[in-house]
Amino acid sequence: MAAAVVLAEAGRSVLVIEAKPTIGGGCRTEDVTLPGFHHDICAAIHPMGMVSPLLRRLPLGQFGLTWIQAPAPLAHPFDDGSAAVLHRSLSASGATLGKDGLAWEGLMRPFLRDTDALFEDILKPVRIPRHPFRMARFGAIGLRSCASLVRSRFEGEKARALFAGCSAHSFLALGAAASASFGLVLALVGHATDWPCAKGGSQQIVDSLAAYLRSLGGHIEVGREVRTLADVPPARAVLFDVTPRALERIAGPALPDGFRRQLRSFRYGPGVFKIDWALSGPIPWRAPECLRAATVHLGGTFEELAASEHAAVHGQIAERPFVLVAQQSLFDDTRAPAGHQTGWAYCHVPHGATVDMTPRIERQIERFAPGFTDLILARRTMSPADVEAHNANMIGGDIGGGANDLMQFIFRPTSRWDPYTTPNPRLFLCSSSTPPGGGVHGMCGHGAAMSALGSVLR
Ligand SMILES: Cc1cc2nc3c(=O)[nH]c(=O)nc-3n(C[C@H](O)[C@H](O)[C@H](O)COP(=O)(O)OP(=O)(O)OC[C@H]3O[C@@H](n4cnc5c(N)ncnc54)[C@H](O)[C@@H]3O)c2cc1C
Repeated sequence: MAAAVVLAEAGRSVLVIEAKPTIGGGCRTEDVTLPGFHHDICAAIHPMGMVSPLLRRLPLGQFGLTWIQAPAPLAHPFDDGSAAVLHRSLSASGATLGKDGLAWEGLMRPFLRDTDALFEDILKPVRIPRHPFRMARFGAIGLRSCASLVRSRFEGEKARALFAGCSAHSFLALGAAASASFGLVLALVGHATDWPCAKGGSQQIVDSLAAYLRSLGGHIEVGREVRTLADVPPARAVLFDVTPRALERIAGPALPDGFRRQLRSFRYGPGVFKIDWALSGPIPWRAPECLRAATVHLGGTFEELAASEHAAVHGQIAERPFVLVAQQSLFDDTRAPAGHQTGWAYCHVPHGATVDMTPRIERQIERFAPGFTDLILARRTMSPADVEAHNANMIGGDIGGGANDLMQFIFRPTSRWDPYTTPNPRLFLCSSSTPPGGGVHGMCGHGAAMSALGSVLR
């Protein structure tokens, strides 16, 4: 949708083709538990949406999008009833991190001088940055593993765990190279702007993009799966928001064998097991700070998080998984009937895992919020297979568009200099398997649209 908007803004005529009966992709909001409870089926919290150079520039507010900001982006509770909190203020965050408060500030502060420039470089292919010195400094830290970074920078449990929870969004083992980059970026976004949610649900992000696209003359067709190139009307350029494996299948002989082999060898990462709850009240966190954050990371210490992520990467089921919880309805009263709440959570599991994680996820919440399970009115679960059935791009439940190992972190999806192009000058890839990867930011689409506008659509 982002690619379509960029092309339409440039005066090209655009048709978006969507396989499912409704638009939304990884940003759908639906009543899947009880009437009146609006659940974000996939993405819920949008740190990258708020800093995306594209989404910030587009007039989405005029087309229905309102970001909602909780008092704090993120809380991370511990067994003793305390919590580390990522606040926008460095010093307020530091105050929750015990003896590591100053070390946290020292790690973050140098990057907070011109965050617009930093995020602009981060949200594009790892090639020649616009701000090379800043990116070199970022790379020196970000290319490290989370484990080595937290051990060298922090003495206490709180800062280590807070940073590890952010790093775990990489879907990498926390000892893996570059896992620290995810921790650093997400913490910086929290300090620089926020981790917001969209009023009414994530669907509003795509609906506002669609409304803007239509205002520019673009068209959308739903319920039409593209299986081969013959399913696409004649066009000067086709931009595919599909996974590399699907592009290889759809384009077939329109792409050379060597490139098809590269697409086939693209690697996918661990999956997720997801739950939505209709709740009779707010989650009764033992640490009251957790009620002030839209996102809560569960799993306690760095060691427990590291064990959970190591298990997901190595094909094992963690008994005490790292759980990501979102509680949008605390800050958005359109999400649930009066006096009620929605709950959203997932944990990482091995690629394509079939184990029902419901008891393990609910035990983790109960551990930090005794009485949680008594509030459950209804739940809907999604296994990795369900996630893939919901959206063909999420192979084996991998929601990040492919593994973030070092090679694919730098060369994504193939080793081509312009990662959005293929050897066929008409065909482009614009999915989250291209840079900058998974997340709701529109920058994959933006990059692919700019490539097309700079070549066949010039
Ligand atoms: C459980 C879960 C939680 C997540 N949480 C977050 C979060 O909190 N924050 C965040 O930023 N991100 C999150 N994500 C990831 C986020 O949803 C994706 O990174 C994002 O949606 C990718 O956007 P996209 O536009 O590239 O593709 P998608 O949103 O995947 O959209 C692609 C669209 O293309 C359609 N399509 C695919 N193949 C075909 C075909 N052959 N023919 C026609 N149509 C086709 C699909 O049906 C889909 O509608 C989450 C994902 C999941 C599943």
